[in-house]
Amino acid sequence: MAPRRKKIYEGKAKILYEGPEPGTLVQYFKDDATAFNAQKKATIEGKGVLNNRLSEFFMTGLTNVGIPNHFIRRLNMREQLIRQVEIVPLEVIVRNFAAGSISKRLGIEEGTALPRPIVEYSYKNDALGDPLVPEEYIVAFGWANQQDLDDIVSLALRVNDFLSGVFFGVGIKLVDFKIEIGRIWDGDYMRLIVADEISPDSCRLWDVKTGQKLDKDVFRRDLGSLTDAYTEVARRLGVMPANATPMKPTLIN
Ligand code: UDP
Repeated sequence: MAPRRKKIYEGKAKILYEGPEPGTLVQYFKDDATAFNAQKKATIEGKGVLNNRLSEFFMTGLTNVGIPNHFIRRLNMREQLIRQVEIVPLEVIVRNFAAGSISKRLGIEEGTALPRPIVEYSYKNDALGDPLVPEEYIVAFGWANQQDLDDIVSLALRVNDFLSGVFFGVGIKLVDFKIEIGRIWDGDYMRLIVADEISPDSCRLWDVKTGQKLDKDVFRRDLGSLTDAYTEVARRLGVMPANATPMKPTLIN
């Protein structure tokens, strides 16, 4: 039996454990999928393995172009070592094309190109269903200050340019995505870095030619096999070998 580790936090799709050194955590990717504020739930075999790999791929790419993030290294099929951060309680959403909630709220047809990338924020609070919040609320309630928000927008737009290019290179349109931001301290000096995960769970990805959805909307809207969609994304990015079949979940402990 592996030694017991201290669980720090369990979310809908991931678990955080105490890391091997101070300032680190182990991020474990579960197979659980939720949608509509966890009203719809399922276990999707292999999803955690795919998202662990895909998030490693994107975070490593961000590091390579100089965008700071929490990823240190992958440990095994379902776990990665990350820097411990203090999560800013916001979901930072970037949209290139209309889809999902913006289409509903403003009556814009899904797929319409937006005049420019739009950055918006939801307050991370499951009980409230992650409500959309303006910057005014964020600053007034002290979740982040104006300087933080300027840095967050700059990070979000850099991530958007990087991801849009990487996806377009493999025939996928990045419609929108969500990132989370963490604070780290070097002494008294605070920095904001990209945290959480980057995977098809938190992006909208459409095939450029056919418009086929390759993201969590496949699960939200019952459009077929989510594992097949994520495997296709991984295959195109060269993250999984072309002949890989979705892997069976492995018990770590
Ligand atoms: N998103 C996410 N987690 C959330 C809400 C949204 O990862 O709790 C992602 C979602 O997958 C999409 C983007 O953020 O890529 C924009 O989502 P939207 O606001 O349209 O919400 P939805 O209609 O998907 O709930």
